[in-house]
Amino acid sequence: MKRALITGITGQDGRHLAGLLLGKGYEVFGMIRGQANPKAAIVQEELPELNLLDGDLQDLSSLIAVVEQVQPDEVYNLGAISYVPLSFRQPELTADITGSGVLRMLEAIRVVGGTQNNPIRFYQASSSEMFGKVRETPQTELTPFHPRSPYGTAKVFGYYTTVNYRESYGLHASNGILFNHGGPLRGLEFVERKVSNAVARITLGLQSGLTLGNLDSSRDWGFAGDYVEAMWLMLQQESPDDYVVATGRTHSIRQLLDAAFAAIDIDDWEPYVTTDARFLRPAEVDLLIGDATKAHRVFGWEPKTDFGSLVRMMVEADIAAESAKADG
Ligand code: GDP
Repeated sequence: MKRALITGITGQDGRHLAGLLLGKGYEVFGMIRGQANPKAAIVQEELPELNLLDGDLQDLSSLIAVVEQVQPDEVYNLGAISYVPLSFRQPELTADITGSGVLRMLEAIRVVGGTQNNPIRFYQASSSEMFGKVRETPQTELTPFHPRSPYGTAKVFGYYTTVNYRESYGLHASNGILFNHGGPLRGLEFVERKVSNAVARITLGLQSGLTLGNLDSSRDWGFAGDYVEAMWLMLQQESPDDYVVATGRTHSIRQLLDAAFAAIDIDDWEPYVTTDARFLRPAEVDLLIGDATKAHRVFGWEPKTDFGSLVRMMVEADIAAESAKADG
C-alpha cells in the first residue's frame, strides 16, 4: 500500500486529492496546523479513513518529524497562504509559508530521504500567478515569470527551490503549474465561488446583490477534481518535471457573471452587481490562459469539465447547500 502525505489537507485541492488517493488504495496522511484547527473535524468527517497529523510549514523540525513518522512514498505540498489579497496584507507571512515552507519541506525530505530503491517523490503546487504580467499568450512551461503579488513572488521561490532540489540532490520533485481551478469546495473568498454562492442566495431570496472588484480580468478556469489527477500523474512518471495544467480557454469576470446568472435564468445581471474599489488590487493579473500540451503529451492528461459545466455545477451545489442551511 502506497503512503501519501498532503499539506493543505483542509483546502479544496487537499480534500479532492485525498479522496482520489484513498480511492486508489493509498494510505493518506494530512498535515494539520494549529491547535484545535476547526477545519480538521470537517475533513475527518468527510474522509474517515484519512490520518491527520500535527505539523506546520513554518517549523522545519515538525516537518522532519512528520516525514519520519509517515515514511511517505509521495508528498504533495498544497499548503500555502493562497489568497492574493491576503498576501498583500501579510506579505512576510506569505513569503514564509508559501515560499520558505517549500524549502523546509524539501529539506525534510532530503534529510529523511526514503529508501534508496524507493525515494520520496515530491509535488509542489506551483501557480499560474507566477506568470502575472504575462510575457506571452498562452503561457507554457517556458514562459518567463513576472509575478504581481507577494503570493506570486513566494510561488516563484517555491518553484525554483523545487527545481533546484531536483537538480542538486536528484530528488524526484515536480512542479504542477496549475491555472485557476474551482468547484463546490472552493473557498468563498475566490471570485468564482463568491459569484456562485451569491447567485444561489439571490435565487433563493436570501441576498439581493453582490459587490465585486475588477470585472475585466480573465482567467483560465478548470475543475479542481480534474486537476488533482494531473498532480498524481506527475508523480507516477519515471522522471520528475514541470507541467502546466490548464484548459486552454479564458473567460472574463463578466463572462463568469453571464454564466452564473444564466444558471438561474437571469440574462441581465447588471442590476444585481455593484463594484467597489476596495476589491481592487495594488497590481492586477489581467489575463491568464495556459497551454497544457506537455501534460497531455507526456501522461495523457486533459480537462474533463468545461467552463459552462463548472459554473453550473458550482451554482447548483450552492443552491443545494444554501437551501439545506435555510431549512434547518
Ligand atoms: P486569483 O486569480 O488567484 O487572484 O483568484 P481570485 O478568484 O481571487 O481572483 C480572480 C480575479 O477576479 C482577479 O483578477 C480579481 O481581481 C478578480 N475579482 C474581481 N472581483 C473580485 C472579488 O470580489 N473577489 C475576488 N477574489 N476576486 C475578484
